[in-house]
Amino acid sequence: MSIKKIVKRIAVEEAFVTEEIAQEWKKVLASKFVEPGFKMMGHTILGEDPGARMVHSRLLDVGAGRIAQMDKDGIDLAVLSITSPGVQAFDAVTATRLAKDANDVLAAAVAANPTRLAGLAAVAPQYPEGAAQELERAIRSLGMKGFLINSHTHGEYLDDQKYWPIFEAANALDTPLYLHPREPSPSMVAPFLDYGLYFAGFGFAVETSLHAMRLIMCGVFDKYPKLKIVLGHMGEGLPFWLQRLDNRYLLQVKIGAVKKMARLPSEYFLEHFVVTTSGVMSAPALKLSIEVLGVDRIMFAADYPYESVEEGVRFLDTVDITEKQRVQIYATNAERIFRLASH
Ligand code: MN
Repeated sequence: MSIKKIVKRIAVEEAFVTEEIAQEWKKVLASKFVEPGFKMMGHTILGEDPGARMVHSRLLDVGAGRIAQMDKDGIDLAVLSITSPGVQAFDAVTATRLAKDANDVLAAAVAANPTRLAGLAAVAPQYPEGAAQELERAIRSLGMKGFLINSHTHGEYLDDQKYWPIFEAANALDTPLYLHPREPSPSMVAPFLDYGLYFAGFGFAVETSLHAMRLIMCGVFDKYPKLKIVLGHMGEGLPFWLQRLDNRYLLQVKIGAVKKMARLPSEYFLEHFVVTTSGVMSAPALKLSIEVLGVDRIMFAADYPYESVEEGVRFLDTVDITEKQRVQIYATNAERIFRLASH
């Protein structure tokens, strides 16, 4: 292990927010219709304590302060995306407008620091055809490297075919979707509300891995074979589950409880999903992921400003893997998957 050998660190799940989105969140949080999980999140993301205020000011900064922090943490390139739940807490009209605004803000930030920043587009699933159009504009005209959706939208998941115009566009543009967590959807959040279990340590992963499994089981990858989904947090637990998912899926097929798919759940996962390290600083979790997925499906992410970038970098700088694997996870996989060649 030698720090000197690390030529480039690319971090691919790095969050920002616009002032307008934060203001709209406040309105939703003040309304009696606020979803219970988001209501809990409101205390965290818009709290008045010094920690929450610092996170919020860091989210708003996509300029000099962000670059200075990247310099301090040793991050060469950050791929930015709208923070959870982004525009998905809003009505369709507001969400569509604010996704577009956020993409313009992000494109301007990237243009100001083109060697240090890249972007993933925001879209509003509430208006699927509009989301598909905005995705095309973001990729073709704004130079975004993919797009990000924060799991459920008003309790609905993307396996519902009304959302498939988004996948049709992603498939045609051959651009990856980062399926990012948020708190569990309204229909399952109740038992997560105690003990803080709705939050990032557990509830987010349950919600997002469920969403990923719904995508695998619904047949969307047969229809759109170029779809690529990125999961954070070392795959939200799924690399650990793959063998058992196949095993019990086959039993359910045998007894007629589930329709047989063209391929096994694990085969869809291995072909269509890649994972990032965001917030997971566990050598056993990384090694299992390398063994199950292959090292070329794993990218580094710091999850700034929610996680300690210093801790994430120290972990990947020093964890017992080969130098070649370290370079792949830190840089070359992200360059390939997000087509960062211009960076
Ligand atoms: Mn994140």
